[in-house]
Amino acid sequence: MQNELAAVIQDDLAWGLDFLERIVRINTFTKHREGVNEVQSMLAEVLSDMDMDVERVLETEVGDQIIGRSSAPEEHSRILLMGHVDTVFPPDGGFTEFSRDSDCVFGPGVLDMKGGLVVVLLALRGLARLGRLESLPLTVFFNSDEEIASPCSRKTLARLAPELRLGLVFEGDRPGNALVTRRKGIADFSIRVTGKAAHSGSRHSDGKSAIRVAAALVEKIEALTDYQEGATANVGLIKGGSAINVVPETAVLHLEVRAERKEKLASLRAAVQAIVDGVQCDGVKVSCTELLGLEPLEETPASRELFEAYRAAAASIGHTVTLLGEAAGGGSDANNLAALGIPALDGLGVSGANLHTHQEYARIDSFVPKACAVAAYLLTQSS
Ligand SMILES: [Zn+2]
Repeated sequence: MQNELAAVIQDDLAWGLDFLERIVRINTFTKHREGVNEVQSMLAEVLSDMDMDVERVLETEVGDQIIGRSSAPEEHSRILLMGHVDTVFPPDGGFTEFSRDSDCVFGPGVLDMKGGLVVVLLALRGLARLGRLESLPLTVFFNSDEEIASPCSRKTLARLAPELRLGLVFEGDRPGNALVTRRKGIADFSIRVTGKAAHSGSRHSDGKSAIRVAAALVEKIEALTDYQEGATANVGLIKGGSAINVVPETAVLHLEVRAERKEKLASLRAAVQAIVDGVQCDGVKVSCTELLGLEPLEETPASRELFEAYRAAAASIGHTVTLLGEAAGGGSDANNLAALGIPALDGLGVSGANLHTHQEYARIDSFVPKACAVAAYLLTQSS
């Protein structure tokens, strides 16, 4: 079976790369709904062609979501294969083309994570061709808003949760075919400081500078960084004032804190709030709003076991995977799976580098081994 599987997937690589080119050439910046919807339709068609049952979740804020289910009857113990269709590259951002050489493919999302979507399709098509797809309890979820923290699709994920027993996420891997069971959690905040404007020459003493208070806040908040604990605080955006000769009335900060463990993230959240509450400056108001974040993906006995089973299945077809020894700094939908109590393994997509930059690429020789590994793992989960 393993040899046959490897042969049909290898055979299908040309189709996979051609499909990748087609979906990369369609811009799927998160806010470019038209493009996202077009790619979702293409993905839905591939799933339908394998006789999967396809559900389209219509969205208005972002592009639609696609859910595919194999015909296996399991209602509560299905395996989720998850990937996002959206990218961080706007249509007018100068990075829209697809190209390839003998080793690599280049283009927006080839690694993050349209290459991963192709790995899912190659695995499913391979299993379908061998007549093994329908007996596997699989739910596929292609979402459209991961790059903005999945504000809409996380609701769909919560709806799917009762039917799932584990989740596989196809973000790109880490060097050395390393998979991911740990990702930092993120809490985002917007802080608004309101002081009092005044002419900086004639009425300087009447003014209350919002920028001065904001600057003091930056110092205190960034001091929460503790590399030993895997905790970071970053004020990434700051805006304030109106003119050089006016005492600034307003300043706005956007910041995030990240941590590997839930308790640490909770304590960072509380610390940010305490810093804001602690501002004592007559005539200056400070308000703090927490934005949509992500809980940490923490390794659990169940996710460790999932990794071990995956590693063994991958080894059976000659593909060696390792485990990333630290928490990945960036979040993904695996964080949202963990928040729902679903064991998750991430980094199952293709190999490459430079995601979120115009130099993004993926290695062509990684597609077949990655697809074979997931297919081999799924075969061990046959009912
Ligand atoms: Zn991604």
